[in-house]
Amino acid sequence: MIVTIDGPAGSGKSTAARKLAARLEIAYLDTGAMYRAIAHEALQRGIDFSNEQAVLEVARSIRLELDCGPTHTRVRVNGHDVSEVIRTMAVNAVMSQVARNQAVRKLLVEDQRRVGERLGSFVTEGRDQGSVVFPKADIKFVLQATLQRRSERRYQELAADGESVQITEVMDNLAARDQVDAKQWEPLLTSDAVIVIDTTQMTIIEVVDLMEECLRASLHR
Ligand code: C5P
Repeated sequence: MIVTIDGPAGSGKSTAARKLAARLEIAYLDTGAMYRAIAHEALQRGIDFSNEQAVLEVARSIRLELDCGPTHTRVRVNGHDVSEVIRTMAVNAVMSQVARNQAVRKLLVEDQRRVGERLGSFVTEGRDQGSVVFPKADIKFVLQATLQRRSERRYQELAADGESVQITEVMDNLAARDQVDAKQWEPLLTSDAVIVIDTTQMTIIEVVDLMEECLRASLHR
C-alpha cells in the first residue's frame, strides 16, 4: 500500500504521516529530510547556493542513507547521522535554492522510487509525492493550513529545539518556501483522486483519524 501526503511546511504532514504509518504498521518516508540533508551538506562545504551545478555536485557526491521505520526516518550522510541537525533555521533559509534545482529533484525522485520499491508498503510525505513520484499511489492526501497557524506550529517546534527565532522570521521563511514548493502539489488539487484536509483547526489525532477513515472507505469501495 502506498499513501502519499503532500502540502506546505507546518501543515502537520510529518506528524500525521508518522502516526498514520505507525497505526498501519508500515514504513514512513520523510522526503523533505533528503532535500534537507543536501542543503546541510552544502552549507558545511560553504558552497555558493546560486551555483546550481555546485549544489547538484553536492547531491551527487554524498552517500545518502535512509532508515525508514514506522515512527521515524533517520538520515545519514556519508555514514554520519544528520537527522536532527537538518532541522535548523540555517538549513530552512537555503531550502528553496535546493528545492528549485531540477537536476537535484530528478536525482531524488529516482532515489525515492528506489526506496519505495524496497519498502513495498509505506506512507510518504513531501511536496511532489502524489503528483510526480508515486502517481499510482493507493490514496493521496494534501494537507493545508493558514500561514499564521503553520508559522505558530513551526515556531513552537524550533523554540522547543532551543533555537532563538522570531515568529515573523519563521512566517517569512514559510511564505518564501511556499512560492517554490506549491508548484509541486498544486496539480493534485484539480484531481478528484486527492483528499484535501485543512488542518488549521484540527488536532493531530483528528487529522490521523480522518485519514484512517478515508483509507478504510477507499479500501472497501
Ligand atoms: O518537509 P520539509 O519542510 O522537511 O521539507 C524541506 C524542504 O524540502 C521543503 O521546503 C521543500 O522545499 C523541499 N522538498 C521538496 N520536495 C519534497 C520534500 C521536500 O521540494 N518531496
